[in-house]
Order: sequence, then C-alpha cells, then structure tokens
Amino acid sequence: MRSSENLSVIVAVGLVLIFCSGMNLLLARTGREGYPVLALSPRAGVEPYGGNLRFNEVVAHRLLDLSIMRERALARAQLMTGLRTPHPERYVVRVRDFSSDEVGASSRPVRSESGDVLLISVASRQLKLEQMDLEDAMTHELVHGLMRERLGARYRELPDWVREGLAVWAGSQILERARFAQSAAEEEGFDLAALLDEQPLLPSLGDDYLEGALLFQGVADEFGSEAVRFFIRSLGDESPEEALSRVTGRSWLELEQLRIRAARRVLQQVRPPAPTVDEVLFGQNFL
Ligand SMILES: [Zn+2]
Repeated sequence: MRSSENLSVIVAVGLVLIFCSGMNLLLARTGREGYPVLALSPRAGVEPYGGNLRFNEVVAHRLLDLSIMRERALARAQLMTGLRTPHPERYVVRVRDFSSDEVGASSRPVRSESGDVLLISVASRQLKLEQMDLEDAMTHELVHGLMRERLGARYRELPDWVREGLAVWAGSQILERARFAQSAAEEEGFDLAALLDEQPLLPSLGDDYLEGALLFQGVADEFGSEAVRFFIRSLGDESPEEALSRVTGRSWLELEQLRIRAARRVLQQVRPPAPTVDEVLFGQNFL
C-alpha cells in the first residue's frame, strides 16, 4: 500500500472514531445510548404473551388480571413517590420467560414507534407459581421508571441505596425481603438483628436494597411519608446525602440510628412472638 493510501485510510478511520465518540457523547447526555428498539403493540398497557407457558391454566387466568394489576401498581407508585406521569401509556408490562428462576420482574427503557417506553417484564414462572407479590414487584419497577422520567440522565448517577431503597420502600417489599434475610441469617447461624445493627466483626447483611429501604422506612415512620417524597423532589438539584440531611435536619450518624430503629420495628413483625413465661416454664411438659 502506498503512503498516500495509508494516509487516507488513517484519516478515514480517524473520522469514523471522531463521529462515533461524538454520537456517544450526545447519547450519554440524554442517557438513552443503551435503549434497544422494539416493536410493541400493548393492549391496555400489557403486551400480548405468546411464550412457553401460554397454555398453562394458572398463567392464562392470571394474564387476564395483569392490566388491572398494572393500573393499581401505577397508582401506588405515583402515590408513594409523589411523582405523576403525564404519559401512563408509556409504562408497558409484558410477561416473559426468563432463563433464570430467580428473576421475578425487571424493567428497562426501550424505544418503540410511540416513543420511549419503560418496559416491565414479569416472569411467566412467577405468574404460574404465585409465590411472589407481583403487584408489589410491578410497583417497584414503576418507581424506577417514574424517577427516571423525572430525573433523566441524572437518575443513573444516583447510588443504589437511593434507587433500590426507594423502590423497595415504595413497593412495600420490606417485610418480604426481611423474611428472606431472616431465614438466610438463620441458615448461616447469624442473628439478623446484629447484622442489621452492623456490629463490628460481623459480615454485612448482604442486601443493600433492604438496608436502603429501612432508612426510608425510618424517615417515613419518624417524619411522615411526605418527608420521603420531599427528598425525592430534592434529588433534581441536590446530592442524596445533602437532601436527606436537609429534609430531616439530622446528621448521618443520627440517620444511621434512625435506620436501626426502623430495622428493629420490622424485625418484630418478621420474627415469631417471644414465648410467654408460662410457655418457657412449662414448655417441656408439652413435649
Ligand atoms: Zn430495582
């Protein structure tokens, strides 16, 4: 290859690289660079399901309720966060055959003919097993969507304790997660109360979502749920740490104590009641 040809190849590659990085920068500013494009045709906010479990009786029956469940979850998510969407039609639910058994629901923004959509995927397996509260799970995903709609690209920069903590709190999933954490801790031989207190020398709880949610539960218990909504509104122009300290008038050390108090209240609901004196004294007689 001659040197002039070399030069034009280098210039062409350079131009492509400049164009691509320019486009990436442009898309990164909007936060939409990762949106896939999908053809969607939802009916009453629900995409028709044609997956492997479509002939299962339980799934077929529950599919009929999905649209009403979506309506209720959307109302709950808006009420809890104080964020109202001008485009409820852009929150679309679909049932999907996940390859992993552990996923109950997930969501992601996609692009469709009618514009940007938050596509919430509900596991067909969960629809069949009826083990998980799908309305709560849907509310959780809708909270992500409402906050993304309000905060735009800034939402992605928020730490997990804010994004997931708020979604778990607003989706009323604290008890469900605490019960799971309780049995996991028991299996490992740990005391969940001690893990939640973050006592030194103990491993971390291993559920950041729950820890974040307990902080917001504490704020709601002691300052009212409106304080959490005020915090959410402040995220547009304040860091989460600044916003939470300002909204509650508490230092981070005090907020940590507030989270621990909330954890203890939740634990009381999760654990079986302590045995009465009679049961302790005479328990062996009932063996
Ligand atoms: Zn989430």
